[in-house]
Amino acid sequence: MPDTSPSSFDAIVIGAGAAGLFCAGIAGQLGLKVLLVDHAEKVAEKIRISGGGRCNFTNRELDPRQPHRHFLGENPHFCRSALARYTPQDFIALVQRHGIPFHEKHKGQLFGDRSSEDFIRMLLAECGAGGVTHWQPCTVQSVRHGSSGYELQTSRGAVRAPAVVIATGGLSIPKIGATDFGHRIAQQFGLRVVQPRPALVPLTFDGEAWAPFAQLAGLALPVRIATGQKKERIAFDEDLLFTHRGLSGPAVLQISSYWREGTPLLVDLAPGADLAHELLQAKARSRKLLANELAQWVPSRLADAWTGQDPAWQRPVNEAGDKALQQLAQRFSAWELVPTGTEGYRKAEVTAGGVDTKALSSQTLESRQPGLYFIGEVVDVTGWLGGYNFQWAWASAHACAQGLAATLRS
Ligand SMILES: Cc1cc2nc3c(=O)[nH]c(=O)nc-3n(C[C@H](O)[C@H](O)[C@H](O)COP(=O)(O)OP(=O)(O)OC[C@H]3O[C@@H](n4cnc5c(N)ncnc54)[C@H](O)[C@@H]3O)c2cc1C
Repeated sequence: MPDTSPSSFDAIVIGAGAAGLFCAGIAGQLGLKVLLVDHAEKVAEKIRISGGGRCNFTNRELDPRQPHRHFLGENPHFCRSALARYTPQDFIALVQRHGIPFHEKHKGQLFGDRSSEDFIRMLLAECGAGGVTHWQPCTVQSVRHGSSGYELQTSRGAVRAPAVVIATGGLSIPKIGATDFGHRIAQQFGLRVVQPRPALVPLTFDGEAWAPFAQLAGLALPVRIATGQKKERIAFDEDLLFTHRGLSGPAVLQISSYWREGTPLLVDLAPGADLAHELLQAKARSRKLLANELAQWVPSRLADAWTGQDPAWQRPVNEAGDKALQQLAQRFSAWELVPTGTEGYRKAEVTAGGVDTKALSSQTLESRQPGLYFIGEVVDVTGWLGGYNFQWAWASAHACAQGLAATLRS
């Protein structure tokens, strides 16, 4: 008679992305018998496309003592423990051990010199060193918990383990395999999911008010962008990019994680310049068109589009009234605009929201449901642009693997 009993493992990790690969490798190297399962054809597609194909794998500016500076979620302090126990320096040391060349770009962001493939190969090698069994593509049809632990029905047969790690990520970029699997499993076991929403995502605008700016697609400039009420205002100094449908670029991606539907953004298009003072000075000595004066601080296409909004601004600066100049300067440095929406999960780099951190241990990422763990983006922890999301994936995976080893070997 053929043996039809399910294969047994110490832990089954579902999702072979950043967090799942890293967790499986460490747990395997700590002596656990690990199965890693993923439904996608190709391994770690998100790492492959990350950082423009070069993977912004961490950020040197991350301060685990102040996680709220670079992470959001209902409890931005939840990630402190994992981030403190596995730091950017720890991951950099691993990257160096694998001989992967990298460089720092902007504000502490570290990128591979060659390609994201280097990091995927490194993670697969770490899994190999841990003797991890890797089934991919493999679909998980059901997850049940009974007296003998967890039993999973998969497209490659039934498997059993005392622990299951959910590392299936968020909802962004469904065409490369993103699903709500993790959220559904959380709900199946009675764990709350904080309403997911697209984050690090371009914002869209429509209607007549946007018409003067639609022609600016492709234009980029440094700005200060802010959202929120005065007391809790969040601001970023980054580049803004005009697109066909609205705004993108690092400034907008960063602010999008904090922006709430129906609320305005405030953009200073000439940060650092006292535009009212400068224009009033120019009035005394120049006969140039106002658009040409403005073009000293911003690209001329933007200066033209901006002055085109009001006939009082379409004249030589020396002929413009003081009030018109002050109004132009005021609106230019505090451009208030209400996005109609976002480009959605199709374009979002991450998903904000996810499994409620109140249901998880910050030490091990185990949930209130014993033996069920959640790591990476599926959790309600969202990092800023710049390598913070990968560092959360590495750190939460590391904390989970340590927790698994401590529990399963005791
Ligand atoms: C275009 C883009 C660029 C990015 N660039 C960066 C960057 O440079 N730096 C940075 O820090 N972050 C970046 N991010 C974010 C980063 O990629 C994610 O935060 C990170 O990959 C999350 O890791 P994870 O392991 O939780 O999820 P993922 O890496 O998304 O892995 C989840 C895995 O689970 C699998 N899965 C999903 N559903 C199922 C299911 N039902 N059954 C089985 N398997 C399933 C998926 O196939 C996938 O392999 C980028 C994201 C995008 C979209």
